Amino acid sequence: MAETQLAAAPGAEEHPSLALVNSSHELRGGKRYDELGTPEAASAWLRERDLIAPEAALEDYCQGRLVGLRADLRALFTAHATGAVPPAAAVHAVNRALTRSPGALLLRFDPAAGFTRCTDHPVTQVVEHVMAVIADDAASLLAGDQASQLAPCEAESCERFFLRTHARRQWCSTRCGDRVRAARAYARKRAIHTA
Ligand SMILES: [Zn+2]
Repeated sequence: MAETQLAAAPGAEEHPSLALVNSSHELRGGKRYDELGTPEAASAWLRERDLIAPEAALEDYCQGRLVGLRADLRALFTAHATGAVPPAAAVHAVNRALTRSPGALLLRFDPAAGFTRCTDHPVTQVVEHVMAVIADDAASLLAGDQASQLAPCEAESCERFFLRTHARRQWCSTRCGDRVRAARAYARKRAIHTA
């Protein structure tokens, strides 16, 4: 498996908010891989998860908003994991995404046509719908029964979150578990040699 195609962390397939938070990660050598790096990539990412219609495509602006939501969700997940007070702006961003009803028909007035009701720009609607779905998922994850299972991977340099499938699970993947075990074995060997 290529390093850019890590298997989904436990819980990420069921929870789009978890998948979104995990959608950017560091590669070996310090480079970053961003699954939402371009509007096309972000559209493909959403399509893969059935979050947008096959023909829908995001624009730069929408991709930027999704990336912004990702940063806010990461701040909330991190606060949850560390017991810190979450940034108020991140809570606000989730609430804004939740309350922007994407289906609302707006009232317009045109001298020729009079009052009409119509939807907002379709592309804006697509991203707003997606953001509402993801924000709703994050809110129910943070405030629901599974909140205690939401944890960051404990492997150094891994930034992914996952749902603990059992209480003692520490890593998002066997890859991270193997990496930590190998590092520990190496440290033990060094300790023996330098003793
Ligand atoms: Zn990991």
